[in-house]
Amino acid sequence: MTLPLRKTTEKLLMGPGPSNADQRVLRAMSEPMIGHLDPDFLGIMNETRELLKYVFQTENELTMAMPGTGSAGMEAAWANTVLPEMKVIICVHGVFGQRMTDVASRYGANVVVVGSPMGRPIDPADLQKAIKDNPDAKVVGIVHAETSTGVLQPLEEISKMVHEAGMFLLVDCVTSLGGVEVPVERLKFDMTYSGTQKCLNCPPGLAPLTVSPRMGEWISKREIPVKNWYLDLNMIMRYWGEDRFYHHTAPINMTYALNEALRIILEEGNEKRWERHWSNARIFWKVLEAMGLKPVVEEKYRLPSLTTYYTPEGVNEASVRKYLMDKYSIEIGGGLGELKGKIHRVGLMGVNSNPAKMALLTVALCDAFN
Ligand code: PLP
Repeated sequence: MTLPLRKTTEKLLMGPGPSNADQRVLRAMSEPMIGHLDPDFLGIMNETRELLKYVFQTENELTMAMPGTGSAGMEAAWANTVLPEMKVIICVHGVFGQRMTDVASRYGANVVVVGSPMGRPIDPADLQKAIKDNPDAKVVGIVHAETSTGVLQPLEEISKMVHEAGMFLLVDCVTSLGGVEVPVERLKFDMTYSGTQKCLNCPPGLAPLTVSPRMGEWISKREIPVKNWYLDLNMIMRYWGEDRFYHHTAPINMTYALNEALRIILEEGNEKRWERHWSNARIFWKVLEAMGLKPVVEEKYRLPSLTTYYTPEGVNEASVRKYLMDKYSIEIGGGLGELKGKIHRVGLMGVNSNPAKMALLTVALCDAFN
């Protein structure tokens, strides 16, 4: 029997993720598969860890790629941190902060929420008050780049207050890593995770994760085992460490993909790459303004890798997205949560932070809004 060919055509993925994978990454994925304990593969794992340390800007030895998508990173972060009844503070300024509260609660955390309206960052004064009212909290969790709104959360002041209170800082960098600076060491993030399919331009499938020595020590001394066997860092650390203790079979070809994506970043250089994301986003924001589209986020809190704007009154935003897809093969995103039906989300991530692609999207949007 011959089955019909699978029908996949190339699309320009300028939504909230996945972004397009770099051609070099796709080629790397099709390299021959080898065993996960093969010395050649162990070499690729080691190099991938070093490259992740460069992109995360850290010397943390506990740096690795967890199997699974960004949500596996979030799950691993909370599963390893939380003990039953432990008090934690979670900052919610969008859907992904909200998801953190769900994940942490499932591991038995007693969650205190500090919120802000969608489209605004967390106000450090609100967090300071929550820390003062809850000195027994152990961890503060926050999303750096809130993909549901397009807010880039400033973390300088927040990191200082969390550490002055002796708490751990847990940061979601799914939409920032590889697009904007993620200063793990400088701002003392204790637990940081990301995903591969946004600014790293890889397919979804791995969750880069890095743990500070202080947090790593705390996890290794937990008296109650981590309630998630698959994501237990005490075992996974040994798999990525010198003794190569078997825990799971690493997603081999995904690791080739991540390795290649990180090599591409090293070749471009962190600083140049962040600057490229900033300068292209600023051009795009000017164009949107000229088109009369109202931004969701005030400029000083805007995320360069993901732009959001309100769709004009009387326009059905879903029909615009369908038009872009049908006529131009371009994907952009709609709103989530309370912003559903009201906004568009446009990703300028990695290879798609590119003036030619922005120009094509702008033409398509002008056509669709007319
Ligand atoms: N955190 C943030 C900020 C995200 O944007 C996403 C996905 O869009 C996730 C977590 C979850 O990642 P994934 O969909 O790869 O599981």
